[in-house]
Order: sequence, then C-alpha cells, then structure tokens
Amino acid sequence: MKKNTRLPIDTYVEGVLASDRVILSRTITLVESTLEEDQRLAELVMEQILPHAGRSVRVGVTGVPGVGKSTFIESFGKKLLDKGHKVAVLAIDPSSQRSRGSILGDKTRMEGLASDKRAYIRPSAAGETLGGVSARTREAMLLCEAAGFDVILIETVGVGQSEIAVKSMVDFFLLLMLSGAGDELQGIKKGIIEMCDAMVINKADGDNLESAKRSKSEYSNALHLFAARENGWYPKVEICSSTELTGLDEVWKTIQDYMEKMAANGYFARNRSDQNENWLYEHIGYLLKSGFYNNPEIKKKIAESIPEIKTGSISPIATARSLVQFYVDGIK
Ligand code: GDP
Repeated sequence: MKKNTRLPIDTYVEGVLASDRVILSRTITLVESTLEEDQRLAELVMEQILPHAGRSVRVGVTGVPGVGKSTFIESFGKKLLDKGHKVAVLAIDPSSQRSRGSILGDKTRMEGLASDKRAYIRPSAAGETLGGVSARTREAMLLCEAAGFDVILIETVGVGQSEIAVKSMVDFFLLLMLSGAGDELQGIKKGIIEMCDAMVINKADGDNLESAKRSKSEYSNALHLFAARENGWYPKVEICSSTELTGLDEVWKTIQDYMEKMAANGYFARNRSDQNENWLYEHIGYLLKSGFYNNPEIKKKIAESIPEIKTGSISPIATARSLVQFYVDGIK
C-alpha cells in the first residue's frame, strides 16, 4: 500500500467492526504489506480488533487440485448463508508465490458466493515466505471474525506444508477426496490424513455415486488404522456432491457435532489456547526473520557474500553465524 493511501487507525478499526467490506479489504491489504510502516500500523489495528475476534467456526478445507474445493466451498458456503450464517473464504496457495497469482485469482470461481453480501472471499497474499503468508492468513481470519463472519473457510491446495499452517489456526480440518480405492489416499500425504477431522468424498453423483459409497467404507476402515485422537474424536467419512448439492447438510452436521463435543470436553478451548501459544512463536520467528532480512546493512552484506559462498571460498555456516551476530550486536 502506498504511503498516501494509509488511513487513520480508527477508520480501519471502526470500518471492520461495522462490517464495511471495502475497509475490511483495505485492512487485510495493510496487514499483508511488508512495509515496516504498514506493519506497525497493522499491529495497532490488530490490537484493537483482537477483543472482537474469535467468535466463528474455523474450518480448513484441503484436497488435491481438481477434487472440487472451490465448487464445494461455493455450494457449502451458500448452504451456510441459507442457514443464516455469514461466511468468509480465505485461501493459501504457496505455489502461487512467484507468480503473484492465487488459487482464487480466477474471477469465475465462487461467483455465487462472491456476489452475495453475506459472504466475503479473499485470496491469499502472494509473495514472501510461507510463514509470512500463514501469519497474514491468521490475521485476515481474525479481521473477518471482527467484521461479523461466523464461519471462516480456509482453502489450501492439499499438497504440502500449508496444511500444517492452516491446522494451527482452525477448529476443524476437512479433507476433500475422490472415490476410487486407495490410490488417492496415497497421493495425499499421510500427515494430512492424520490431521483431518472429516474426509469428504466429493463428486458422489451420477456414475460415481456407487463407487463413492464403496470408498466411504474403505476410507473409514483405513482411518481406523490410525491411532485414536487425544480429543476422543473419530474422523468421519462423508460423501457429497458439490454440483448436485447432496450431502452438504451432513457435512455441516458433522462439523457442528464436533464443535459441540469439543466444547463439552474442553478440547475446543485448549486447542485455541495452544494455537495462541503457537502463534506467539510463529510471530516471533516472523518478526526476527523480516527484521533481519529488511535490515539494509544485512542486505548489503548478504549480497557481498553470495559470490564467495557460491565459489566455496567462504562457508555458509560461518557466514550465517557472523551475519546473525552482526545483527544481534546492532540491536543490543
Ligand atoms: P479444485 O481445483 O479442487 O478447486 O476443483 P474445482 O472446484 O475447480 O473442480 C474441478 C472440476 O470438478 C470442475 O470441473 C468442477 O465442475 C468439477 N466438480 C466439482 N465438484 C463436483 C461434484 O460434486 N460433482 C461433479 N460431477 N463434478 C464436480
């Protein structure tokens, strides 16, 4: 964001709390900015927003490309609007960092949701490291909550590290799958399967319906091979069709059932407080890293060292240590 486009703190805070979508978007843009001045301002805004955040069901949605994530989110999101909810959709796409694109960049996706005043769709911040992107997604989520959205759907592409980041900020993690034996199970990393609270077999329609039903029991059996969860929840397997709009109510029932059980056994509160602790470490890491790499002298020294690092005449280990030492001495 350019300097002259910055708004007074109160304008951001009041705008978000009043659910002003333009201001909400501008606040998320501010939060995503890597400029030092923007970040300071964003921190002040976030401090005032935090007491108003937290009152939503936070759902991570993942699955391989083509499984139907955006179609599912569109249909599921609309169902939730019909039930009286306000739905915000955020997305993390680590693969788009270079292109500055995003999985939601294609304007034709989720058109129905995007045009509905009770929904809000925001693509991931492009650029930067994954840590930065996920930190920004968390802040965007909190801003959406403060703006009154009570269901937050966070979409990731289902192939890597971003799921771990998303798991650390959601209440419920949903893995979308396709029917058809164990192949897909193997295509998804075991770690992701272990993280999911529900597996939803999408495209359970037409010729696919029977095989989806078969897969449901196969996947249920496969999931039972994993150790029981500390929170006592057994991951559910559901089938749905995001185009025929079937099975979506059951998915929401499962999420509600989970939320009720976890509230009752104390896991919900414990998980959120553990997530806060994790957030602290994550943010410390982010601040240290961005402070370090944005330091002009460090930038210069790194640039000077690269040729010698590349030829092997100095070692990365010793150079890294001396750079960090230089930085630490400078801030003492
Ligand atoms: P994403 O890459 O995971 O976001 O997948 P998309 O939502 O873009 O969907 C990929 C393709 O699958 C599109 O052609 C969709 O129309 C189709 N699709 C998505 N959900 C369903 C479904 O429930 N049934 C059927 N038959 N097709 C679907």
